[in-house]
Amino acid sequence: MPAKVEQFGLFIDGKWVTPPGSKRFETVNPATREPVGSFIAGTAGDAEAAVSAAAKAFPAWRDMPAPQRGEILLEIARRMKAAKPALGKVVTQEMGKVISEGLGDVQEAIDFLEYMAGEGRRLAGETIPSELRSKFCMTIRQPKGVVVCITPWNFPTAIPNWKMAAALICGNSIVFKPASSTSRCGAEVVKIYAEAGLPPGVVNLVTGSGGTVGNALVSDPRVRTVSFTGGVETGREVYVRGAQGLKMVHLELGGKNPIILMDDADLDLALDGVLFGAFGTAGQRCTATSRLIVHTKVYDRFLGMLTDRLARFPVGDPLDPKTGMGPVASADQERKVLEYIEVGKKEAKLRYGGKKLAGGAYDRGYFLEPTIFETKHGTRISKEEIFGPVLSVIRVNDYEEAVRVANDVEYGLSSAIYTRDVNRAFTAIHDLEAGITYINAPTIGAEVQLPFGGIKNTGNGGREAGSVAIEEFTEIKSVFVDFSSKLQKAQIDTERMA
Ligand code: NDP
Repeated sequence: MPAKVEQFGLFIDGKWVTPPGSKRFETVNPATREPVGSFIAGTAGDAEAAVSAAAKAFPAWRDMPAPQRGEILLEIARRMKAAKPALGKVVTQEMGKVISEGLGDVQEAIDFLEYMAGEGRRLAGETIPSELRSKFCMTIRQPKGVVVCITPWNFPTAIPNWKMAAALICGNSIVFKPASSTSRCGAEVVKIYAEAGLPPGVVNLVTGSGGTVGNALVSDPRVRTVSFTGGVETGREVYVRGAQGLKMVHLELGGKNPIILMDDADLDLALDGVLFGAFGTAGQRCTATSRLIVHTKVYDRFLGMLTDRLARFPVGDPLDPKTGMGPVASADQERKVLEYIEVGKKEAKLRYGGKKLAGGAYDRGYFLEPTIFETKHGTRISKEEIFGPVLSVIRVNDYEEAVRVANDVEYGLSSAIYTRDVNRAFTAIHDLEAGITYINAPTIGAEVQLPFGGIKNTGNGGREAGSVAIEEFTEIKSVFVDFSSKLQKAQIDTERMA
């Protein structure tokens, strides 16, 4: 008899609730197809109730001094550290990334909670000189109000914490809707938040489909800011819906991230980087290396090195520490990636992999071979986001061509170059059209104290993480204090003073 699947409710106004008549859905382990948890398929009414709870909780939370809010974030971080081994395992079981990466996902959440807790003692405005005498000018930051956080499945604990920790330290209250397929990770994170002393209603969780819960949350007039990470098409829909309510909508979307490999690069170093960048998280990172742009002088040698290593690259049980790559995250993901592999077979040369793995434990899950295509720039696989373990390798003749190819896609999230030439490295920092550039490292590896985000179709201009994360979640108020005891007119009295 299979063990009973743990059931989770919605978290609204400080309580775990099961609204009458609720329907349920289960998430599954992509390595085994076993259920991981049972969740409520929330309704528009549930979304409405969660926004009401957040709106009610907002005034008191807003008035709590920010350093005290920071203390609560630190307590959440402490509890998340204690939960890390178990939570990292849940990440791996529900999403399929290998256990070191599951633990890394949770560590990123912890790092950001600690970083944002410190922001409670900054949240700085500016003091700015006045054009008039005896007048003082400054800006202060104020929270937006009710914030909605909608997150994807690929970083199911890190991304929710990026959004929630930043929103909370600024004094906002939250309704959080995780990706349906990683609802357990979302619920476990909220459990930790709930136990750390947050007042009721400050954080609310509604599980359920994007089309129902997400739409209702984005449409609610009491919601002032929507922080969304996911696919481009969904992001566009959320943006348009949010625009009708004149909301601030922050979007973090896809990528088609290149590594440029120059002829002077340390090829052994690059080999480790390309493997981790392209096949870490089975290529399901928005920053995954999905294009390798190689100088013709080292092309054949490097491709030989890469395929040799892939032949020894273990794909399998993601809980086994020796495994290099686990399954892709779901049946949908598997289907989508296999479709792209078929496209690739028609328009490019399949150099490695290209199949669904079969036999033994592979038959229970969604395991694909790491796949390499040799392709010309301009094919679909070289330009569209695949979001799976598929690397397009493109041969170029020189640096100028490499940069042209790197930039000629509709995304601009991450980018990298391997070279030993310091002048070339700095030139690339200038030339590459992306929100992030790595030198002698792959396109993945964000650290929470640096801004994260991209240009072009990767987003709409904002950044998460780093100190700038608070921009998304605060309004700036300009304050003028006139201590001259007389009416002074800006722009007018300045002339008299001259
Ligand atoms: P989706 O866009 O399908 O889903 C993202 C979230 O949006 C999920 O919670 C989903 O809910 C929800 N959603 C779906 N439809 C709506 C809607 N109409 N209104 C509001 N919310 C909705 O993306 P995936 O989860 O499949 O994630 C993969 C994509 O995310 C990739 O394309 C990847 O590039 C991108 N991504 C970008 C990152 C970045 O920082 N730039 C980071 C990580 C991923 P449900 O699960 O219920 O459908």
